[in-house]
Amino acid sequence: MLNHIVWVVFDSARYDSFEAARTPAIDRIGASQRRYSYASWTAPSHHAFLMGLPPHSNEPGVLSSEAHRRDLSLWQTRIGGPRDMALTFADFAPTLSLPSFLKKLGYRTEAYVSMPVLNPRTLIAHHFDVFELMPVHNDLRAIIGRLSFDGTPRFIFINTGETHYPYALPGEDGGDLPHIPGVHGVWRGLDDFLKGAQASAGDGATASFDVERLRPLWQKQVRCIEHLDGAIGELINVAPPDTWFMVTSDHGELFGEGGYFGHGPVIHEKVFEVFFVEGPSPRSGSRTSCENELEATVLGRLKRLGYL
Ligand SMILES: [Zn+2]
Repeated sequence: MLNHIVWVVFDSARYDSFEAARTPAIDRIGASQRRYSYASWTAPSHHAFLMGLPPHSNEPGVLSSEAHRRDLSLWQTRIGGPRDMALTFADFAPTLSLPSFLKKLGYRTEAYVSMPVLNPRTLIAHHFDVFELMPVHNDLRAIIGRLSFDGTPRFIFINTGETHYPYALPGEDGGDLPHIPGVHGVWRGLDDFLKGAQASAGDGATASFDVERLRPLWQKQVRCIEHLDGAIGELINVAPPDTWFMVTSDHGELFGEGGYFGHGPVIHEKVFEVFFVEGPSPRSGSRTSCENELEATVLGRLKRLGYL
């Protein structure tokens, strides 16, 4: 039997935001790793994901071809199934498409995305059986409510935007946004603040985005990750025990570092640095609930003490 595979992308979630967040549900899946995205923006980053390449580990001394070979071979573990199936780049040819590759193995492939640059008419939607742009950009629980599982192995790819600017949870309005000194905590005021920093810079100058001033936005992203962790806990219960989970981000976000805000046409380490977690369902029969609970406790404490 092949595993179901559920890959969830928290759009724009920074590595250090994830590390600061309390994430007991995700910790049950596995330990978080510091990885690097192939791109600083949603569309190209997701293109790499859907070639089968999660964020990379940026190891010195390793040829890029070897890193790609190793990363693609890990789909053997995610899929489960016969151990003599040694995967190579050739298995992904000629489409170099993860959903196409999985369909050949018998998977039903479904994508539920929240960012409009990934809509069903874009190249990224090719090769999926189902590809839907959700009605709102920030409601992972609504996506979970749409999922169903049966005897056919599922590849479910999810992009959710609670962690994307303006870091709003479902149903939040302007009054819930962070208070930034000098800004009335409303959507319009926040936009004006950010545009104002740009405009005040003048021609050819650098905008004065300031880390301390933007810190409430980073803190709000941390709270959004904690909210998403609760939804992932529900997802773990909805998905069958023979499910492999992957949780990551497509790129980071700049909150004033280097004079930048946001992500996109920017070269800065914090916009490439992302978290990556993967592993079998904590409900998998391979471990007892007692072992899962102990592991979650140990991982949580190691993380809080700064070891992870
Ligand atoms: Zn993105």
